[in-house]
Amino acid sequence: MRNEMTMEFDAISENEAFARISVAAFISFLNPTLEEMSDVKTAVSEAVTNAVIHGYDGIEGGKVVINCLIEKDVLHIEVIDKGKGIENIERAMEPLFTTKPELNRSGMGFPFMEAFMDDLEVISEPDKGTIVQMKK
Ligand code: ATP
Ligand code: MG
Repeated sequence: MRNEMTMEFDAISENEAFARISVAAFISFLNPTLEEMSDVKTAVSEAVTNAVIHGYDGIEGGKVVINCLIEKDVLHIEVIDKGKGIENIERAMEPLFTTKPELNRSGMGFPFMEAFMDDLEVISEPDKGTIVQMKK
């Protein structure tokens, strides 16, 4: 069974819940457990929040794209922004690393995505944007 979905929306914090709920609705036909559902929602929420507050920090009119693919019982999710990008991906993924301590960010977004999903890849280039790929 293969099923694919793409969505694009404005990079504003009001759309974080929309994105999380849309992905949850898309995967619901698989009858995931409450825990699986909650893990995916948390991971999507963290990735979209990052796109909005870091990727498009100081940039107006940005868009976030989410691609979801279910193939052979594996869920692939991509969260894409065309914002600032990440200079040092390895460092950005370390627990407690944040470039926004003044906003009370804890630097736990990537560690959560890593913990709640089975696989996490981050592709990013300064001034080009960021692609977060997750599998479960
Ligand atoms: P928290 O998620 O706990 O609120 P945080 O967002 O700072 O804090 P992470 O989500 O782990 O922590 O991200 C770590 C750092 O990686 C961010 O502080 C930011 O510098 C960078 N980063 C993450 N996602 C993006 C992105 N989409 N575009 C540009 N920079 C990003
Ligand atoms: Mg974050």
